[in-house]
Amino acid sequence: MSYVTRIAPSPTGMMHIGTARTAYFNWLAARASGGKFLLRMDDTDAERNQAEAEQPIFDGLEWLGLNHDGFLRQSERAEVYAKYADLLLTSGAAFHAENGAVMLRWQEYMPRHWVDDVVGAVPISHRSIETIHEKLCLIRGGDKFGQATYQFASIVDDYESDVNFIIRGTDHIANTAKQVAIWSAIAHALGVEKEQPKFSHVGLIFKDKKKMSKRDGASSVLDYRENGYDPDGILNFLLRLGWGPKVDDKASTFMDRHKATELFLIGGKMKAANANFDTQKLDFYDRSYKRMKSAS
Ligand code: GLU
Repeated sequence: MSYVTRIAPSPTGMMHIGTARTAYFNWLAARASGGKFLLRMDDTDAERNQAEAEQPIFDGLEWLGLNHDGFLRQSERAEVYAKYADLLLTSGAAFHAENGAVMLRWQEYMPRHWVDDVVGAVPISHRSIETIHEKLCLIRGGDKFGQATYQFASIVDDYESDVNFIIRGTDHIANTAKQVAIWSAIAHALGVEKEQPKFSHVGLIFKDKKKMSKRDGASSVLDYRENGYDPDGILNFLLRLGWGPKVDDKASTFMDRHKATELFLIGGKMKAANANFDTQKLDFYDRSYKRMKSAS
């Protein structure tokens, strides 16, 4: 099966190391299966300067050699989201709230469980089905009238782009039932059976026992470029933050992008446990790649 994957950063003026890791995994899944790797700017709340916010992401991906096969910017797709909202309004799956927002009656479409490729089956308990807020906002009303929510824009884009494999951090597990419901509602309204994408949620990256935030000095990809790091050393380091080979021995210490492409889907597994960002390991890979390159 060939996978259409995507990386969907919210542009903030920097490229986080976690974004690079997730981009690499999605890139590998696409390349390993002869599929496509898409780049999408999740910039619906963009208030700052667009170019400034996005450029580090383009530069970071380019520096790491993670080329993409398609590009979207959510801020340019308001009409598409409105079209899908209309579709759901017409089908009766959605309705207008008093403040003009478009809300989905999502309980109807909510799965009883969904299956994560890494985490396993994620059940939605009876209790949460009964107590859950039965309306889900798709298009905002009030001050942000007309603006699509993250949940809605994200799934409309995945649906339209035929994304069939979503690899992202475990922090998005909580969004997935809603997104599966929106996908089902769209497919139902269109009268088609379109299979849900496969989901793999991978562990977050921790440094010194804390989740690496934007403010962490070691978290900006482009800082490594400025500091003369070798991009292939970085990729090898990133590969091991949330993925491990079936046979983890000396022979698997070094995996450049070619070897990683060969093994990513069939020779190893992604992991849901949080990964530890070990600077000494990063430096070890950096020195090793520089040495290998200067010897060849
Ligand atoms: N914009 C979201 C983020 O940066 C994307 C999440 C997703 O992959 O759906 O976390």
